[in-house]
Amino acid sequence: KAVCPKPEQTRLIAVANQKGGVGKTTSAVNLSAALAQFGSKVLLIDMDPQGNASTALGAPHASGEPSVYDVIEGRKTIAEVKRACPDFDLLDVVPASIDLSGAELEVADMENRNVLLKTAVDEFLENSEEHYDYVIIDCPPSLGLLVINAMCAVHEMLIPIQAEYYALEGLGQLINTIGLVQEHFNPSLLVSTMLITMFDKRTLLSREVHDEVKSHYPTIVLDTTIPRTVKISEAPSFNQSVIAYDPKGMGAISYCEAALELARRSQTVLQAIDARRNEN
Ligand code: ADP
Ligand code: MG
Repeated sequence: KAVCPKPEQTRLIAVANQKGGVGKTTSAVNLSAALAQFGSKVLLIDMDPQGNASTALGAPHASGEPSVYDVIEGRKTIAEVKRACPDFDLLDVVPASIDLSGAELEVADMENRNVLLKTAVDEFLENSEEHYDYVIIDCPPSLGLLVINAMCAVHEMLIPIQAEYYALEGLGQLINTIGLVQEHFNPSLLVSTMLITMFDKRTLLSREVHDEVKSHYPTIVLDTTIPRTVKISEAPSFNQSVIAYDPKGMGAISYCEAALELARRSQTVLQAIDARRNEN
């Protein structure tokens, strides 16, 4: 079994791309599961009112269930709403319910509206008896207040990119938004990782997309790509990550490899974040 190093400090990572259907949730879920299987303690926070990550990890998230909505609105702490993932001892999930879709409006007038999640995450990590190696946030497909909250709460952004013709379209807008968050709220925020998803090695297009993204962002694109597989898309309907649902398949193997690559870059990434922090 491969050795997966643990980061020296907690890595806080938001998985974001305002495009829907590019593999954000699938990547957040399966990287979290893989890291937990490798022995790291992981908290996945679902910030999408659709609650797809909650579904995929078996966390109840019907309307009215304790969820990240209560955390954002200051009624509950993360410790109070987190659930253990049934498949992995080291993975906890903060579920999202559809109620969260009201939060953007409900907190819109609050002065600290951008840092509601950050406040809750910092408080949780400070007071938790257990040390978490990773906090991974699954973002909704927008650049709204929920995503800004995620960007303010983390040190790193992971951007999944679907291997398709319009792959890089919209990336500029995302990078601009990250720039605004850096300028106003979170100067050390780092785009640390890009992951090519739904890769089809038989097509020239997939390889061209990988090469193009790699040429624009040489140091942050993972070498591992995630293939398009049926098992990956089936797993959520069994309330499972593909790591638990089909552990020997190519989908699970690829996400495990991506998780290893992510983990092995920890020191470099944490140093880069520190450097940014010292600049500011
Ligand atoms: P997002 O969170 O960015 O909207 P999802 O992770 O939900 O995207 O993925 C969109 C759809 O594509 C889902 O139905 C998911 O099951 C499917 N999907 C994602 N990655 C893969 C993959 N590598 N192979 C096959 N299906 C995938
Ligand atoms: Mg999603």
